[in-house]
Amino acid sequence: MVLDTTPPWDDVQNYINGGWRAPSDDGEDVINPATGEAISYVGFSSEDDVDAAVQAGQEAFEEWSQRPVEERIQPLFELKQLLEAHQDELAEILVQEHGKTVAEAKGELRRGIENVEVACGIPSMMQAGHLPNAAPDIDETAVRKPLGVFTAITAFNFPAMIPLWFLPYAVATGNAFILKPSEQDPVVAQRMFELIDEAGFPDGVVQLVNGGVDTVNSLLDHDGIEGVSFVGSTPVARIIYERAAANGKRVQAQGGAKNHIIVTETANLEFAARKTISSACACGGERCLANDVVVVEEGVYEEFVDLLLEEAEAQTIGYGLDTDTDIGALITPEHEARVRDMIATGIDEGAELLLDGRDVEVEGYEDGNFLGPTVFGNVDPEMTIAREEIFGPVIGLLPVGDVDEAIDVLNRSDFGNAASLFTSSGADARKVRHNADVGNLGVNAGTAAPMAFFHFGGWKDSFFGDLHAQGKDMIYFYTDEQVYIERWPDA
Ligand code: NAD
Repeated sequence: MVLDTTPPWDDVQNYINGGWRAPSDDGEDVINPATGEAISYVGFSSEDDVDAAVQAGQEAFEEWSQRPVEERIQPLFELKQLLEAHQDELAEILVQEHGKTVAEAKGELRRGIENVEVACGIPSMMQAGHLPNAAPDIDETAVRKPLGVFTAITAFNFPAMIPLWFLPYAVATGNAFILKPSEQDPVVAQRMFELIDEAGFPDGVVQLVNGGVDTVNSLLDHDGIEGVSFVGSTPVARIIYERAAANGKRVQAQGGAKNHIIVTETANLEFAARKTISSACACGGERCLANDVVVVEEGVYEEFVDLLLEEAEAQTIGYGLDTDTDIGALITPEHEARVRDMIATGIDEGAELLLDGRDVEVEGYEDGNFLGPTVFGNVDPEMTIAREEIFGPVIGLLPVGDVDEAIDVLNRSDFGNAASLFTSSGADARKVRHNADVGNLGVNAGTAAPMAFFHFGGWKDSFFGDLHAQGKDMIYFYTDEQVYIERWPDA
């Protein structure tokens, strides 16, 4: 079922026990956000579909968990090669169902593939510990054991990368894994699963079930699922965390965000302005790492505003497949309407509208969900646009007296996913580093996205759980430690 990258594409299928089959329940069209056209259709998986996947996963786990680790990572090496060989095609599919640009889609794939690479190091990463003579005549050894079938329920905004925050680590550690991708852009996941099928995993080790809320609930309630990873909005993350935990499962639930940039008087302002625009507007602002509240020291506020507006006005809005495009389409008309409502709220609450992106038109794509960069000045920290996640190319500028006040603004947020600081002052950087309540902090880096060998996850309402995505945290999430206490008395 190899997809040509020109839609419409066949209906999206589940991948269960090494075979393709249609989800049982009615679902919805997959729409190209730039054209408004239906490009595929995704059915939703019933309780029975989920049960079939879990049972296949449990059967596969018996053999897979006992396989030598060196053999378990071979399909991952193969998968890395396949993902790289097919990255152009994957990126084109992704653009057509998500709306972002080709460059952004390729960047996303690269970040996903990094996780496959890191998981290939599981033979070293999975080792626990050994201590001879831990007690008289006793040696103690800790080992990490896989647990069974895990699932990940993922967000629409990085439909290729986010599944790879989990999948490679789950299977490399010896578990079986079921992905439930976003129903809004499920085609790239299906294409990736075609490559997974080629990579040589035994049937049932890696599976795909499509669907919406009911499918998620079937996964959360199934006794055969050991643990749940979730990436999505905060209200849903909270629901998932509570329901999965109430059912006795391990759970890590990554939620929404509201991220800040701090610009100090010593910053390279041109660089900071350029990075601020890319941080806030890349992927149409639909990123959990988008920094859209920009807190600027008063002494450089006016100069920074001018530089930022210059950068914002230079952005080209258009179809993601067009290589001239800087900012693509938003995921749905409903989401675009929500972002427009947020802009209206900003105006109503008294923020100063410095650049209005609402009247943007993209020739030839009149039915697309487009919005240009929108910049507000003199935003107050209590305004809705300064507190709530917008998930669109909207920036709020906020003048402050000094770095202490900037940190105070940042820490008042309910969220704690990320922040960035632009400065030439080591003292200011140290102060922010020691006091900012965020999980990821960039210094002179607009988007604080850690490499795959570091964990990725936010604080406060941006995350529910303890072990985050990526890196070593994933090893702990997917295994339990067993300790052998050994004594061999002489006969
Ligand atoms: P979403 O919460 O609407 O959906 C995420 C997933 O949950 C989807 O697979 C969806 O099918 C499922 N879902 C939706 N409603 C549900 C419900 N009531 N019960 C059970 N399952 C449900 O999120 P989205 O719109 O796809 O993604 C955007 C959000 O994800 C933003 O808030 C963004 O900040 C967040 N996000 C966070 C991170 C992070 O690492 N913290 C990364 C990417 C995206």
